[in-house]
Amino acid sequence: MFYQCGDGRRNPLLARTMTVPVFRFAPSSNGALHLGHAYSALLNASLAGAAGGRFLLRIEDIDTTRCTPELENQIYHDLAWLGLQWETPVRRQSQHMDECTQALARLIEAEIVYPSFMSRQDVRGYIAESEARGHAWPRDPDGAPLFPPVDRDRPPSDRRRRMEEGEPFAWRLDMNAATAHVAGPISWEESGDGPDGETGRITARPEIWGDVIIARKEMPTSYHLSVVVDDALQGITHVVRGRDLFHATAVHRLLQELL
Ligand code: GLU
Repeated sequence: MFYQCGDGRRNPLLARTMTVPVFRFAPSSNGALHLGHAYSALLNASLAGAAGGRFLLRIEDIDTTRCTPELENQIYHDLAWLGLQWETPVRRQSQHMDECTQALARLIEAEIVYPSFMSRQDVRGYIAESEARGHAWPRDPDGAPLFPPVDRDRPPSDRRRRMEEGEPFAWRLDMNAATAHVAGPISWEESGDGPDGETGRITARPEIWGDVIIARKEMPTSYHLSVVVDDALQGITHVVRGRDLFHATAVHRLLQELL
């Protein structure tokens, strides 16, 4: 996957890195690396080498319940065993919550995220009820049901009251508002291929994901937000990763445009 992160003319950091390709391998330290990770790491490093570019390692450790220092050390050990070398210091997502908080604040300000109060159980109940009435509920590319519009459609006074009363909530992207906020279609250049052989200029269809989580109850970020913020801050020019994340790229491109 190839895509350009931002406008080099406005950001001196990007202007500098535009000339040097920057690749990254970004495993989550919530489990052992598998063969797919090894392939992805080796491919990133070899493409970076061939292009005279940089190869960065980033530890995606925002899931504090499952990520551990032991698993992180195991990642370094396994990558060294593969013969890889990477730049240090390694960026750890958990150490950069401020940047994510700032990005979230911009999305809140633009009114394209909303607080969602429904628990997993509420969502399951809502969808089961709707399906019992004979309506097939739409699913995202991973097969998960799209988030119901209940919280999105809450009156502002109800939202305010719940927040003031300390009800736990997550921030979700209002997908309709977010896509309307971006002028024109968004796309990326795919130089590998997607699950159905998609290649070349791909038009992003983030709406297939519905109202994705942008920040969790206990965390001012989520996978989608952190990956976009970090790719921009690290000046990443080329994203090479598993096909399982092909469709998620549409959400990342949308967030890049919004931010
Ligand atoms: N941390 C993600 C994973 O291990 C990959 C993120 C990415 O490459 O964008 O699956």
